[in-house]
Amino acid sequence: MSLVLSDVTLSYPDGDGRLTALDRIDLTVEAGEFVAVTGPSGSGKSSLLAVAGTLVAPDSGTVLVGGVRTADLSAAERARVRRDHIGFVFQQDNLLPPLTALEQVLLAVDLRKGGRRAHRTRAMELLEQVGLADAADRRPHQLSGGMRQRVNIARSLMGSPSLLLVDEPTSALDRERGRQIIALLAGLVRERGVATVVVSHDLDALDPGNRTGVDATASIADGRILRVERHRSHVGARFVETAG
Ligand code: ADP
Ligand code: MG
Repeated sequence: MSLVLSDVTLSYPDGDGRLTALDRIDLTVEAGEFVAVTGPSGSGKSSLLAVAGTLVAPDSGTVLVGGVRTADLSAAERARVRRDHIGFVFQQDNLLPPLTALEQVLLAVDLRKGGRRAHRTRAMELLEQVGLADAADRRPHQLSGGMRQRVNIARSLMGSPSLLLVDEPTSALDRERGRQIIALLAGLVRERGVATVVVSHDLDALDPGNRTGVDATASIADGRILRVERHRSHVGARFVETAG
């Protein structure tokens, strides 16, 4: 599923006037593409994810999720699109203190639908894929920051999203652990063909151009995309390295 933002503008009330958080944004993310958006704090990164994730309607412009204009959907239909197709990894890990890692991942699905056992098996598989097979029974206070972020990622993939939106996943981590998280995400989403947007103020953590890093980097400042650098291009169903 692809994501297309065309000429998207978003403003918030600000005293007597409006503050422009997104200013005529154009951004396309193909299915299976892993795109980073980097820019300083306040540049509009979280706003961009909120609009892409149908949580906030832009003032103007078009948001296409899987080719569907989100503005044409009712609130209930947008909620369904989010539930069935979009995964979110928020900046705060939002883990609930009393629950184990396994239970946190299981929270992402409606346990009344499908078999309980099947959900459990899938949650365990995801925990294994993020390197937490041995930590499934631990509660958040027994996990490091990096491990909590891995639980977060496992949880976001539980609903098999086609679009994954990730807000500052490395902000609480040191460089090495940050890069490990990006490499982990890149591997997981490439394997599944998930269109992925990761926003971060820390370009270095994203490791652009590295084989474990992102496919493209867009830089944003004051709500505007300044440039998009593609490190790989889409050829057929896969990405190849682009020269230079
Ligand atoms: P970033 O994630 O890059 O730090 P944000 O998208 O959170 O940037 O914010 C972009 C701008 O919009 C900032 O100036 C911020 O203060 C403002 N802003 C964000 N959310 C709101 C809101 N709900 N109401 C008013 N202003 C907001
Ligand atoms: Mg933010």
